[in-house]
Amino acid sequence: MEDKSEKFCKLEKLKVKEMNKQVVVIGGGPAGMAAAGKLQNFGYDVVLIEKKAEIGGHLNKWYKVFPDFTDASEITANLKSGLGKTRILNNTTVTQIKGSAPNFKVTVSTGEEIEAAAILVSTGFKHFDATLKEEYGYGIYDNCITSVELDAMLKAQSVKTRSGKAPKKVAMIHCVGSRDEKVNNNHCSRVCCTNAIKVAIEIKEQNPDCEIYCLYMDIRVFGRGYEELYRTSQEKFGVQFLRGRLSEAGEKNDGTLLLRLEDTLTAKPMRLTVDLLVLMVGMEGNSELAEVAGLKVGCDHFYTTAHQQYSNNASTQKGIFLAGAATGPKAIMESITDGRSAASEIAAFLLSAEASIQANSNGQLVTGIAV
Ligand SMILES: Cc1cc2nc3c(=O)[nH]c(=O)nc-3n(C[C@H](O)[C@H](O)[C@H](O)COP(=O)(O)OP(=O)(O)OC[C@H]3O[C@@H](n4cnc5c(N)ncnc54)[C@H](O)[C@@H]3O)c2cc1C
Ligand code: SF4
Repeated sequence: MEDKSEKFCKLEKLKVKEMNKQVVVIGGGPAGMAAAGKLQNFGYDVVLIEKKAEIGGHLNKWYKVFPDFTDASEITANLKSGLGKTRILNNTTVTQIKGSAPNFKVTVSTGEEIEAAAILVSTGFKHFDATLKEEYGYGIYDNCITSVELDAMLKAQSVKTRSGKAPKKVAMIHCVGSRDEKVNNNHCSRVCCTNAIKVAIEIKEQNPDCEIYCLYMDIRVFGRGYEELYRTSQEKFGVQFLRGRLSEAGEKNDGTLLLRLEDTLTAKPMRLTVDLLVLMVGMEGNSELAEVAGLKVGCDHFYTTAHQQYSNNASTQKGIFLAGAATGPKAIMESITDGRSAASEIAAFLLSAEASIQANSNGQLVTGIAV
């Protein structure tokens, strides 16, 4: 049995215990970097856990980004410069999360256990696996590539067919792996229409004689400056937009690809031969931490937030927050803004937690921490 003096000592220890001021951010893409920077500014210690060798997320793959052709590396450099004393753990993932807010214990793949008062999951998205649309021939035909591979070619100033020639005709297929019940992705990935327009302009700038066809279901250009980019692509660069559905691609002996499609405006079948076929692959949810963090995943495979309208950075777990493309397709600017929004939600949550602990140490009865 515990005597009275032991009980008293335990109570005294509780009174003087200060709240841990460390926040763990999982995922070092634009959302995670923006959040980590803001949390630093707010005075929190931040540990940024990134599973790749470099932070930067998908920005590390992009060349110039829509809508204004800013160099992706400039955005990364800007966000990195705001990270201050953030402790960055590269090549690291999270294997276990124990405890509850504000006393989480996060175990990482190196075996280290990190204390955290709150956790932000900003693990972004995955690309749709284009081999699942077998009829388009990705992984079968040499001259069928994804939008991710095209960006790498643009970055290297070398948009070429597999045989090393500059393409004379290029077709971009919109909505690959998005808005498609057959692959269990009903959502629109939001960025690929504008990305198709951006890369079409870039190809024309690097190879003015190339003809470019964008095969779309609808054109969805939702952001500031996007509609203008769409117009510019047609008026200044002559990019052609066909409302068409590709049914099948076949390879000819010379490596060109014969596309069979339906023009859905005239309801007529069409054939188009191109040197390069680019699949605008959609964004899919990356829910790999769902079990470890106890997070819910929506029917669109992205993480579920506490409330879609007014609590879009809180998860269904108290003290675990969400930001960026982890909760649905977003453009870079939206991901950065969302990361910063999550940082302020976390700061508000931790201030409330601290106030509760303070009140507790003053002998007041505290029932819980507000979210
Ligand atoms: C083809 C394509 C082109 C695009 N081009 C543009 C453009 O021109 N302009 C624009 O505004 N937007 C563009 N976007 C959208 C843009 O890429 C996203 O808005 C942005 O990358 C989302 O940032 P994020 O930080 O949420 O996620 P991500 O960029 O996906 O970053 C997530 C990070 O988390 C890490 N991670 C994942 N899982 C774990 C884990 N378990 N543990 C630790 N770390 C983990 C990843 O390695 C990654 O570093 C494009 C998207 C696509 C698909
Ligand atoms: S943004 Fe455009 S290409 Fe992408 S899924 Fe939506 S409609 Fe399709």
